[in-house]
Amino acid sequence: MRDSSFFTKVVHHKADQTAAVHSKATPIYQTSAFTFKDLDDLEKYYEGETSYLYSRERNPNPEELAEGVAALEEGSAGVAAASGMAAIFAGILSVVKPGDHIVAAEDVYGGTHNLLSHELPSLGIEVTLTSFRDQKSIKGEIRPNTKLLYSESVTNPFLRVEDMTVLQEIAGKNDLKIMIDNTFATPYLLRPLQQGADLVVHSATKYLGGHSDATAGVLTGERELVEKARRKIVSLGSNLSPFEAWLTYRGTKTLGIRMEKQSRNAQALADAMQRNADVGKVYYPKNVSAEGNGAIVTIALNKSIDMNTFYRTLGWIKIVPSLAGVETTVSVPSRTSHRALSDKDKERFGIDDHIVRVSVGIESSDDISAQLEQAIEASK
Ligand code: PLP
Repeated sequence: MRDSSFFTKVVHHKADQTAAVHSKATPIYQTSAFTFKDLDDLEKYYEGETSYLYSRERNPNPEELAEGVAALEEGSAGVAAASGMAAIFAGILSVVKPGDHIVAAEDVYGGTHNLLSHELPSLGIEVTLTSFRDQKSIKGEIRPNTKLLYSESVTNPFLRVEDMTVLQEIAGKNDLKIMIDNTFATPYLLRPLQQGADLVVHSATKYLGGHSDATAGVLTGERELVEKARRKIVSLGSNLSPFEAWLTYRGTKTLGIRMEKQSRNAQALADAMQRNADVGKVYYPKNVSAEGNGAIVTIALNKSIDMNTFYRTLGWIKIVPSLAGVETTVSVPSRTSHRALSDKDKERFGIDDHIVRVSVGIESSDDISAQLEQAIEASK
């Protein structure tokens, strides 16, 4: 049996390491709460003089990530959340309340589609999903209680690029907010806040983090809306953990060079796939930005290709139901992201097992094309 001093020492033995030690990298503030010297010190928090009380509310690592992304997107404020979905939910709730109506693009990410078509209506928020390819269909859905237009800057898996001029015009005439998911484009290619969006959201799990090792979301835009969203995140407990924030923030530092290289590699792969007689169609957008057209290439393989053989012979290119890591990976929308669509909708959108979404990595460009070409050849 230890004497009683052991039980005190075991939790209080450490020297105070919290003073500034000039570390180059931001430390991970892996703490659930912060300490206060006395009541005056505690009051300072409530008077806004000190920032941190409890990590669900604020913590330096998520703050660093959110402020970094806000700077890249040129938003006046930012807030991090536990995932892209958590950031989307909080962002939407910062604009709409029960009884309000949202008009959203029908080709948004599957998880967002589910949030819009099931969860929000169950909270009394009306949602219409429609084609954003045609401005008439957007305008036709606006109602007196419509408050928000929701879309993605570049969509999945067919990489439609949203026409922000059209959205801005419709929003301006009808006093609507615009919220854009900029996950696929990243602020390296597009900055929707500069094109009329009020809120921009990211699944930071993807390119912002860039290494497939953290799940995170970031919302940025007008300060008033972002602060409302922050209160939702605090109440819902959907805050980002310090470690996930630290990993994601570290990833953002190489966003520029990754996107530069990955976009170049993607253009080369799109060109190689265009030349391949066994590829029926290549989806790769043009003129997304002066910096490039992004790092996702979607291909429709000819029906003569045996898809299991194709995937088995892809070697170091693995099936991964996500995107945006430094490794080239493939995903199968019909079996993962778009699995929940009805057969009718799959047919309408042209999603079947021969559609392959390639998330192009940072490997040597020739190796990426060669790896896909040999798998196509082996699967005929
Ligand atoms: N938005 C887009 C475009 C996505 O691709 C995803 C996930 O794949 C999400 C949002 C959801 O992000 P998360 O998985 O980080 O919640």
